Amino acid sequence: MTDSSAGSGAGDHGLLFVVSAPSGAGKTSLVKALLEVEPSIQLSVSYTTRAPREGEQDGVHYHFVDAAAFDRMVEANAFVEYARVFDNAYGTAAATLREELDAGVDLLLEIDWQGARQVRERFADAIGIFVAPPSLEALEERLRGRGKDSDDVIERRMAQAWDELSHHAEYDYLVINDDFSVALGELRCIVAAERLREPRQARRHAATLARMLNGR
Ligand code: 5GP
Repeated sequence: MTDSSAGSGAGDHGLLFVVSAPSGAGKTSLVKALLEVEPSIQLSVSYTTRAPREGEQDGVHYHFVDAAAFDRMVEANAFVEYARVFDNAYGTAAATLREELDAGVDLLLEIDWQGARQVRERFADAIGIFVAPPSLEALEERLRGRGKDSDDVIERRMAQAWDELSHHAEYDYLVINDDFSVALGELRCIVAAERLREPRQARRHAATLARMLNGR
């Protein structure tokens, strides 16, 4: 018996999930929790010119590069997408992405709306998920709760958050992160639903379907 909730079937392309959210909406924690319960989904590690934050490791959270190295990658067409967010550049390397999808690996990109737009242009099947906070007040509270940023920075982040939020309609799914476990459950539902789409399921269960259809 096959498990219909399992990862991609043999010969199928991997699913490409693209998750965006305003900074402070809790996207990173949600994605981390999702990948713990769905370990077959691989998180793409982006390149960035921003400095590592405390606890961030090169090659794990990001590939940290300087502006010159980033520009060289842009010129070499090494990115599937890239964008400037705040004062830094961020990009998803093309190198392994296509091979992994072709090999049937499900991938998740945590990128901003500008990058998501570029990914959609290249991968029509990409599944866009937007994570929003329950209110701007909640967002500001979370940003202040980090306790690391000055009022100026918070103000800029709020403006940026509003800008990101204004692009929610470009995505296939909208998750409101009010209650963490509810939002996580919703993300899991999206993954399950996408894996259960008919063409993918029909390929996976081709023999069973053929037996039933030819049986009478
Ligand atoms: P942070 O500096 O807080 O890690 O990320 C800032 C923003 O950059 C977030 O909205 C994050 O999703 C976005 N981001 C991270 N990696 C990439 C990437 O590879 N491409 C794009 N377009 N945005 C990214």
